[in-house]
Amino acid sequence: MSALAFLRAVLRLAAARLGPAPLRVRVQTGDARAGARMLSVPAEVTGILLDVEGTTTPIAFVKDTLFTYVKENVKEYLRTHWAEEECQQDVALLRKQAEEDAQLDGVVLIPGGSGEEADGHERMIQAVVDNVYWQMALDRKTTALKQIQGHMWRAAFANGCVKSEFFEDVVPAIRKWREAGMKVYIYSSGSVEAQKLLFGYSTEGDILTLVDGHFDTKIGSKVESESYKKIATSIGCSTNNILFLTDIPREAHAAEEADVHVAVVVRPGNAGLTDDEKSYYSLIDSFSQLVLPAST
Ligand SMILES: [Mg+2]
Repeated sequence: MSALAFLRAVLRLAAARLGPAPLRVRVQTGDARAGARMLSVPAEVTGILLDVEGTTTPIAFVKDTLFTYVKENVKEYLRTHWAEEECQQDVALLRKQAEEDAQLDGVVLIPGGSGEEADGHERMIQAVVDNVYWQMALDRKTTALKQIQGHMWRAAFANGCVKSEFFEDVVPAIRKWREAGMKVYIYSSGSVEAQKLLFGYSTEGDILTLVDGHFDTKIGSKVESESYKKIATSIGCSTNNILFLTDIPREAHAAEEADVHVAVVVRPGNAGLTDDEKSYYSLIDSFSQLVLPAST
């Protein structure tokens, strides 16, 4: 045996011994292609549950692209859609919210009326715009704000003004998992409707068909373990049949308490993890680092 062949044999043996790391064992972060450790998915896992923001999709896409789109286009959107019933319902909900917020600093009230008088129409639109800006500046999560944002994004995705982005490893990995028989679900604080837009209108086309089910906070908060039990019930499996991937340790903790397998996803632009979190959780920085059980 030549020295080179001997060396290769030794390396093969070493690689076989090391094998993929079991889940819950810390993996090195770094480029998978540059030799980062892989993470074994336990054999009992039949479905992978994915967070979106900071896991499949850059936080900047949501924080910058989507929210900037609303700020830059809300006035034009209102002018274009003002006469439509849906738009009037959005305005009515914002007006009601503003009345509830009346005691808050800087609140912008929205005048009522038909808006048909000479300058009434534009004044009402400007008040809605100012109210939306005020709520967004405070990062409020009111249903009224979410509803008009959702309608604006739906229009923007449908007419091709906006396309969602995924980290480059995400779509190839999901395709591979599905080919191996794994189910794929989404659990995001973004509404199911918003999730469907993200997966329906992406830079990689319509990949909605790659998703077996969607969950949002209607099923419960992502930091409550009960939510993960409800998701398992809804899917029709046990919690330990699920692997949850998220960038937020509090969510991972809640899932783990419900006996769901977890791995924390490290992505550019995400909040940093503490040393304790880094050493406690299985970490991946690419979906390609997951090694599926051979049986799926
Ligand atoms: Mg997230």
